Amino acid sequence: MSAEFEATEALRHIALDETVKSYVLQHPPLYQALRHAAMRFIGGETLMQCVETTKSLNKQGHAVTIDFMGESTRDASLAEQATQEFLNVIRAIADQNLDASVSLDLSHIGMVIDAKLGYRNACTLAETAEKAGLEMMISMEGTDRTDLILEIHQRLCERFKGVGITLQAYLYQTFDDLAAALQRPGKIRLVKGAYEAPPNLARSRGAELDATYHQLMETLLRSGHSCSIATHDQSLLSSAHKIIQDQSLASDRIEFEMLQGVTPERLKAMSDSGYRTRIYLPYGKEWHLYLCNRLAEYPPNIYQAIVDVVKHGHE
Ligand SMILES: Cc1cc2nc3c(=O)[nH]c(=O)nc-3n(C[C@H](O)[C@H](O)[C@H](O)COP(=O)(O)OP(=O)(O)OC[C@H]3O[C@@H](n4cnc5c(N)ncnc54)[C@H](O)[C@@H]3O)c2cc1C
Repeated sequence: MSAEFEATEALRHIALDETVKSYVLQHPPLYQALRHAAMRFIGGETLMQCVETTKSLNKQGHAVTIDFMGESTRDASLAEQATQEFLNVIRAIADQNLDASVSLDLSHIGMVIDAKLGYRNACTLAETAEKAGLEMMISMEGTDRTDLILEIHQRLCERFKGVGITLQAYLYQTFDDLAAALQRPGKIRLVKGAYEAPPNLARSRGAELDATYHQLMETLLRSGHSCSIATHDQSLLSSAHKIIQDQSLASDRIEFEMLQGVTPERLKAMSDSGYRTRIYLPYGKEWHLYLCNRLAEYPPNIYQAIVDVVKHGHE
């Protein structure tokens, strides 16, 4: 096993450890130092900062999807607070006329406390978003939550048109989930999958996963359903472009979406080729898990993080 592989596995593990999260939040020097590394990937720690970042990304020609970071809320009053904050996000987007949508984890707004609470809060947000003419995207979480998230998405789609869902190519069940999601309204965002997952449920990173992503992506592109190809993988981006060109597919319902701070030159190239592009822009103080995931999925980022911490550590 290579040191790099072990380091990425360790980072993924740390990302999911809630005691490490509270340790980081409760130790100001550590929090301040790591914060500089996190800033590269987020829109700031407050909604106001995130709105400013969104404006600047809109000026560069990219739409944005804003997420108030957090997941696995265990306390109903915190789930309520998170829901209120997402309402503020929707209002800010509408009031300031931003080219943006809202993205969220259902576990952030109460799903793991009680599925009904998560659904109720999601309805409140979907209704407000719909009235404001905005789209709401649901992220996909760990494998113990997949089916519940899909079920809640299905119920939301019975009431609202603009609620999208994220599907993870690494899950064996995603071929079936994609077929089901294609029957519902709401954008389908296709990602590789970021969580630790048991081998009987998910493929690991590598050629087999990339081939599966390609297959799912082709089905999605050809369906004409509103979709987001959410990857930084250059080979998959080139394949998507080729599929669209060769099959003369209309591209008005196709979007390419990437994470803030990750391969911006690839997103710009897609935008320059005439495609609609979007940046996933999270904000808030709970960036610990998010930072670990970004470092784990691309180990050279660890060196950049060290530079960020050392260079700005005393500010
Ligand atoms: C918009 C969006 C929403 C997402 N939502 C979810 C979700 O709801 N649930 C979920 O499980 N996952 C989600 N993800 C994360 C996703 O599952 C992958 O972990 C992540 O996108 C990396 O996979 P990749 O497709 O870019 O391919 P990879 O094979 O990881 O990367 C391909 C290439 O992209 C570049 N690259 C990738 N990541 C980085 C990085 N951090 N820094 C620098 N370069 C990098 C490198 O050149 C790398 O070789 C989301 C991703 C995006 C873009």
